[in-house]
Amino acid sequence: MRLRNKPWAKDKLKEYADFVIQEPEQHRGKWGEVFTKDQPLHIEIGTGKGQFITGMAKANPDMNYIGIELQESVIVSALDRLIGENLPNCKLMNVNGAELAKYFTSGDVSRIYLNFSDPWPKTRHEKRRLTFASFLKVYESILVKNGEIHFKTDNQGLFEYSLISFSHYGMKLNYLSLDLHNSDYEGNIMTEYEEKFSLRGSRIFRCEVQFLS
Ligand code: SAM
Repeated sequence: MRLRNKPWAKDKLKEYADFVIQEPEQHRGKWGEVFTKDQPLHIEIGTGKGQFITGMAKANPDMNYIGIELQESVIVSALDRLIGENLPNCKLMNVNGAELAKYFTSGDVSRIYLNFSDPWPKTRHEKRRLTFASFLKVYESILVKNGEIHFKTDNQGLFEYSLISFSHYGMKLNYLSLDLHNSDYEGNIMTEYEEKFSLRGSRIFRCEVQFLS
C-alpha cells in the first residue's frame, strides 16, 4: 500500500478512543467488555482502509470485529470510515500482527481474516509473509479450538505458498476457490484491493483453513 506521510495520524488515533483500542494488552482474555455486546470476535490482520471489516460488521451485527493494521497513515482512513458509521460491533487496533499474543489469549478470537496480504515475493523476505509458520503459530495461540483463517488474494504466488504453509502446519482445508468472483460463493464482502484488482481483470483466490487443535 502506497503511504502518504500523515504526521497528524498518531494524534487522531488517540483522540478517537471509542473506535481505536488504546491499550489492547489491558483487554487480554476479556474482549467482550470492549464491545456493547459480548459475542464472538473476528479479526482482520492488515485491514488497510477498513472497507472489508466495516462491511462485515454491518452485515453481521451478532459478531464483533477488530481491524488490525500496522501503518498509522493507513488505519486513519479506516477510522474516518468508522466514524461515519454506527457500528458498535467494530473497532480498530494499530499494532503488528506478529505481536498478537501480547493482546489476545487462547480462545479470544473466533476467526482470522487475511485479505490481500503483502506478498513479499523475495525468498529472503519469506518470514514477513502473514502466512509464514511463525505467524500461524501466533494465530493458533489466540484462536478458539479448531479456529479458522479465511484468506483471499489476487497473488497466485502468495496463494500457492500459503496453501503449502497451511498444509505443512497440519491445517485442514475447508474451502477453496481459484476464481472467487466466478464461483457460487455467496455473501462476499469486497476489500479495497479486491475491487481494484478485479476491475483490472485479476482472478481472486480464496480459501478457508482450520487448525486441528
Ligand atoms: N486488506 C486490505 C485490502 O485488501 O484492501 C489492505 C491490503 S494491503 C496490500 C496490506 C496491508 O497489510 C497494508 O495496509 C499493511 O500495512 C498491512 N500489514 C502488513 N503487515 C502487517 C502486520 N504484520 N500487521 C498488521 N498489518 C500489516
